Amino acid sequence: MHSPDVTAVFQLPDEAATLRLGEALAPLLVPGLVIFLEGDLGAGKTTLSRAMIRALGHTGPVKSPTYSLVEVYVISSLYLYHFDFYRFESPEEFLDAGFDEYFNDTAVCLVEWPERAQGCVPSPDLRLCLHHAGVGRVLEAVADTPKGQACLNALIQALGADSSSAMPAPR
Ligand code: ADP
Ligand code: MG
Repeated sequence: MHSPDVTAVFQLPDEAATLRLGEALAPLLVPGLVIFLEGDLGAGKTTLSRAMIRALGHTGPVKSPTYSLVEVYVISSLYLYHFDFYRFESPEEFLDAGFDEYFNDTAVCLVEWPERAQGCVPSPDLRLCLHHAGVGRVLEAVADTPKGQACLNALIQALGADSSSAMPAPR
């Protein structure tokens, strides 16, 4: 039987809070994990990805994949693929580009604009949805698989109960 989804809400009043969340998430990334990053342009998807990638030990630049579609990082033994499908005109471009091969047990995949590859991109373990909230942001996290739930529970533990609230997702 499918266990109930885990959801949590994190208040991110400034960019530093987004960076802290990314840094807390980085050590929880395990091979095979797929994370969708949702939210409007400027919501902070790339900022959050950049914080994770830097916290994993990458010292070079972390470019937005908006034009390249994917940026590849090999960090110690971990492959990390950072995608951005904003420029897709149809979801089939995902298959045409051969991106399905990137989603495997050895890699972490971070996906901005997954909705533009809907039906072609594999399902996520964790969905992180960023919203503008005044000058800051709010992040809603939904874990869809046991792997995503383990990651989100650990994130809630790491950041403390004050910045998050865990509750069963509505079905
Ligand atoms: P996206 O990838 O979602 O289009 P970016 O990460 O490229 O967005 O840009 C987000 C912008 O918002 C950046 O200028 C960043 O400094 C800023 N930002 C990120 N997180 C926060 C936050 N919690 N509060 C205020 N500004 C933020
Ligand atoms: Mg972006």
